Amino acid sequence: MIPIKRKVYRGYRTVDSFPVLKRFRLARELDRVPSRELRLSKTEEERVNEIIEKSVVISFHDHPEVFPENMDDLMDYIRTGYTALGYEGLAYSGLDAVFDGLLDGIAMIHSSDPWSWENIITQIGTRLADLAMQDMVIKVERVEDIYRAHSEGKIGLILHLEGAPTGIGHDLMKLDILYGLGVRCIGITYSIGNELGGGIADKVDRGLTDLGYQFIERCNELGILVDLSHVGDKTSLEAIEASGKPMAITHAGARALWPSNRLKPDEVIHALAEKGGVFGVEAAPHTTLTLNRRRHDIEAVMEHFQYIADLVGIDHVAFGPDTLYGDHVALHKYFRRLLSIDRIISKKELPDYEEVEYVDGLENPSQFKNIVRWLVKNGYSDEEIRKVIGENILNLLRKVWR
Ligand SMILES: [Zn+2]
Repeated sequence: MIPIKRKVYRGYRTVDSFPVLKRFRLARELDRVPSRELRLSKTEEERVNEIIEKSVVISFHDHPEVFPENMDDLMDYIRTGYTALGYEGLAYSGLDAVFDGLLDGIAMIHSSDPWSWENIITQIGTRLADLAMQDMVIKVERVEDIYRAHSEGKIGLILHLEGAPTGIGHDLMKLDILYGLGVRCIGITYSIGNELGGGIADKVDRGLTDLGYQFIERCNELGILVDLSHVGDKTSLEAIEASGKPMAITHAGARALWPSNRLKPDEVIHALAEKGGVFGVEAAPHTTLTLNRRRHDIEAVMEHFQYIADLVGIDHVAFGPDTLYGDHVALHKYFRRLLSIDRIISKKELPDYEEVEYVDGLENPSQFKNIVRWLVKNGYSDEEIRKVIGENILNLLRKVWR
């Protein structure tokens, strides 16, 4: 295998100036598990490589960082405040840009609230300090930065908070601060509702609050993309209606295919697309299953893609695989409560499905290329593929960012 990007640095996992992570054995970034590479003919594989080379390839949501090999070390690792970005894995990914969800819902560095201001600023600060040590990965603040990453053989990171910091609705100046630090995409709530609106784990979604309306208005003014992935249905519909700019669901799937709260009903997908929004298809373990395919793998994920593309048109679909380097299933188990796992992908409420150790074919951010392989194998045109692996997101960002 030849790295697609030039690898120059291995990040916090090895650098002497940040010895704090040296005591952890981190997961292998490539080939941690035997997740399959889709098989194509030689000419098909050449076409895949040509498409990736010529197109701007963007992941709408991933956590491109490396977790400990032994997930019992997870909490100690998080408490250090440093997480190792997967430079090696990213060099092989074919991605030009990634919406980087940081540690988000598990960022309990200084306190037990991952969404506290201090925890959020620490994650952003340590990530930016890491980026400053090298030049393969750059921070993206404008659409031009993504094109620059593509043309210069680099990878752009877009700072992306899946939920809003606790209490931000009472102090919207914090949105300006986050914008200043480079945050370009933010969720209204992270599964559990807050002062802005309801989340997907709430028993009752009470809808967008007055503070929520102000939050969206300020995001629109600043040019921050609003993400509805973890937002409740009612709040999502009200937010789309209220927003002067199109919105995103960076990582989810279709509830019509699998009856989980983590996924979105047709009504929300339609409303998003009608206002020009883009839907990123998710692949985190046990999320985008389907009634036809109860063992989570790339085929199940792509069923969600096909359904949403048929529902609202291919111009409104992208991919936000929501993967990481390490054992994602163990992470879900470790933080079952914190991530509201029981309330959103609970076995009790859902039809029977097979538990897997990893999502075969889409196990980590470096397997994004398998999406392109699948699209080539299944008869999509170069133009359609270019749209869903990056162009649709670029068009959306042109409307929302400055
Ligand atoms: Zn998420």
